[in-house]
Parts: sequence; C-alpha cells; structure tokens
Amino acid sequence: MEEDNFIESLFELADNLEKPKINKRDVCSRCRRPVTVCWCPFLPSEPIQISTTVFILQHPFEESRNLKTAPMLNQSLSPGKCHVYRSKKFPEHRYPGLLELMRQPNTLLLFPGPGAEDISELPPVGDEVSYNLVLLDGTWGQAKHMFLSNPMLQFPRKVQINPTVKSKYVIRTQPDDGSLSTLETAAFALSVLEQIPDLFDVLTKPLEALCQFQLNHGACTHHSKTYKIENGLWKKKLSKKALKRLEEKKNQQILDGNQQS
Ligand SMILES: [Zn+2]
Repeated sequence: MEEDNFIESLFELADNLEKPKINKRDVCSRCRRPVTVCWCPFLPSEPIQISTTVFILQHPFEESRNLKTAPMLNQSLSPGKCHVYRSKKFPEHRYPGLLELMRQPNTLLLFPGPGAEDISELPPVGDEVSYNLVLLDGTWGQAKHMFLSNPMLQFPRKVQINPTVKSKYVIRTQPDDGSLSTLETAAFALSVLEQIPDLFDVLTKPLEALCQFQLNHGACTHHSKTYKIENGLWKKKLSKKALKRLEEKKNQQILDGNQQS
C-alpha cells in the first residue's frame, strides 16, 4: 500500500471514529478533515476571482488514491469556477452539458502530446477572451484511457504547459521530475492564462501545507521515478524500453562529459 494511501485511510478512520461522538468541533466544516490536519488556514483569505472556469474529469480510482486536491482548488476559487465530474466514461446522452462544453471554441483540454498547443502562446484572458479549462485527473495511463474512450474529448483544443516550477507534492512519487499533480497543473495553467504570476504559489499553498504536515508525521519525501531509476533506487523490474532510455541517457551524459572536458 502506498504511504499516502495509508495515511489517507488513517485520516478517514479518524473521521469515522469521530462521527459517533457527534463532536463536530473536531472536524473542519469546510474541508471535512480532522481539525488537526485541516488545510483551510492555507487557503487564500478571499476566494480568487478568475475569468477561466475549470472542469476536472476525475478517474474514480484517483479519488480514493490521492489526497483529494480538487477541493483545495474549489475552495480557493470564487464559487462556480471549479467543477468536478467523477467517472471513467462520459457518454454524451448522460452528460449533454459536458458535450456542449467540449464543443465550445474557447474550451481547452490539458492533454500533452503531438498537436497540443503551448498554453503560454494563447491570448491571455481579457474583455474579449475567456476559457474553459478541462483536466483529466488520474495517472497518465488513466488519463490516456479516458481521452481515448470518450469521443467528446476529441472536440476541444488540446493544450499543454511547460512548467517552470517543481512539484510540491513530494509525498507521492511523480513519474518524472517535471510532472505536476493535477492541482499544480491547473494552478500553473491558470497563472499563465490569467496572467497572475503568483497564482501558482497561492493555489498550491494548501497542498504544500498538507505535504509538510505529513512529512512531519513520518511520511518520507518521494523522488520521481526517473530520479530513482537513474540513481539505482527503483526496486521494481524495468521494461526494456525504460532500460534502453536509461542506457541512452548515460551514453549522452558520457558524451556531454567528454565534450566539456
Ligand atoms: Zn478545514
């Protein structure tokens, strides 16, 4: 069991243990977490007014796996600016509103890959410009599966970010040093679209606080998978492709070293 998963279930257990006592003072009414691990003090003092509306399509496994970061975004933004839909499949007849959304010309789907535009090259929000930003919340594999199995996701413009920041989500192994959690991806994309440079830091403060809390209580910092592989810390068997990539990278480093000397 992953450490964060384990800690999350401890929190849930604590939640459940508190219910029979009906001691509401012990659970925060806003974030619904035990007051000892409440991240509300780290939310912005006033909900942030933005022009973009965020839609998170969350893989059902993701909700149980991660530390529920979508509510942090929801609570940080002004009402109606963050919507979460939880499912693997979004059939058009059951989600007519989503279909309509995906067909709007100002809807952007954050999905990196060939054909995805760099979000920093789009016109920023203004009097004439506003966006709907759609994110797929899950592992890369889950997100890819969601993308391929939901025809409506083919409609929106695909965009990607080139983050200049490092993930603060240190207690969960990110696939690569450049990878950000969904909350961080949304925060970074919003900071670019809305032209508010410190929006990333503001929106990720609760996450940072939560990670810090867990680090203080025994969770250890997770390095990215790439870092672990490159430093011989990866315990699982590597695919042929991963081994080849590692070999190529080492050769490149040797070449770079030779060139420098
Ligand atoms: Zn709270």
